[in-house]
Amino acid sequence: KPLRYAIVGLGYYAVNVILPQFANCRSSRVTGLVSGDPAKARRIAAQYGVPERSIYNYQNYDRIADNPDIDAVYVILPNSMHAEYTIRAAKAGKHVLCEKPMSNTAAEAEAMIAACKRAGKKLMIGYRIHFEPNNLNAIRLIREGAIGKLRFIDAEHGFVQGDPSKWRLKKALSGGGSLADMGIYSLQAARYLSGEEPNAVLARTSTDRTDPRFHEVEDLIQWTLAFPSGAVASCMSSYSSAHNHVRATGSSGWLDLDPATSYEGITLRRKTGDRTETVPAPAGPGKTMFAAQLDHLADCVASGREPIVSGEEGLRDMRIIEAIYRSAQTGRTVDL
Ligand code: NAD
Repeated sequence: KPLRYAIVGLGYYAVNVILPQFANCRSSRVTGLVSGDPAKARRIAAQYGVPERSIYNYQNYDRIADNPDIDAVYVILPNSMHAEYTIRAAKAGKHVLCEKPMSNTAAEAEAMIAACKRAGKKLMIGYRIHFEPNNLNAIRLIREGAIGKLRFIDAEHGFVQGDPSKWRLKKALSGGGSLADMGIYSLQAARYLSGEEPNAVLARTSTDRTDPRFHEVEDLIQWTLAFPSGAVASCMSSYSSAHNHVRATGSSGWLDLDPATSYEGITLRRKTGDRTETVPAPAGPGKTMFAAQLDHLADCVASGREPIVSGEEGLRDMRIIEAIYRSAQTGRTVDL
């Protein structure tokens, strides 16, 4: 029995990236839409065979409770809306896949976890890279000792922001600047490649506050994570320069992902001794990382297992993100 999703929010990522991916899914279907724009919702509903009665807006959203054709929602709204639309879905008796970053604050993330637990519903965060074959291969190779003892991770993510009026540059809607949007990929990479939880963070930002794009949120932010094994990660994100690169260096070589997390073209290279080679991508857990992500929640609902990228996993990042901001503000190391 497939998992039937309502997509909440019909912006760029929902319409151009996620909706076309249902065609690649094994056990996920789209059967509902939630949008503030009725004309857009009708057009997209027609395209994906979603019936008129399963189109909702932000006011009547709670009525999905009475729709037996919807099992789960996928929240693809601005970050500040993730908590509210997750909690309302749980109250309506639906499972939730929620985009990254999970929320604006760790407190909101805790409330989301509690609401889904109370309702007996699954909560999963849209960390698609956990379903991406090259990143999974890098994790496996590091665990197998392919680069010896892991010593250093370098993780960079960013793109150049344009229009200052966009929600990503409004703190109330985004929760933060490049860190909330892109730095979370650097943080995730440091955590999944090391397989450890950091015990300290030291951060600094470089933001031109006279630039109209950065009146409310940070531009460039750089932070160092210390891990219990002694491994160190240097992470950054930027809204004024383009980056998409991760490297893990150990006592006997390195693994390099370039690009590391983009929608397409992710490439893994490996250096051992004097030799550098491109590592071919193994078969992934689905036709694409996006389809594998959608089907993972379907499998978890069917089997009763917890998603590998659970609400708790999202909360861990939210706590570290808050510590990174605190460190940048105070100039001091924050212990985790
Ligand atoms: P977007 O601006 O293209 O879409 C946001 C949607 O929310 C729009 O349809 C907009 O109309 C709607 N919306 C409702 N209330 C709004 C309000 N008050 N202000 C602004 N928009 C409002 O954004 P997006 O790039 O699709 O991002 C949506 C979410 O998806 C974000 O949380 C983002 O982090 C996440 N995302 C994830 C990935 C990924 O690779 N996992 C990629 C892109 C975006």
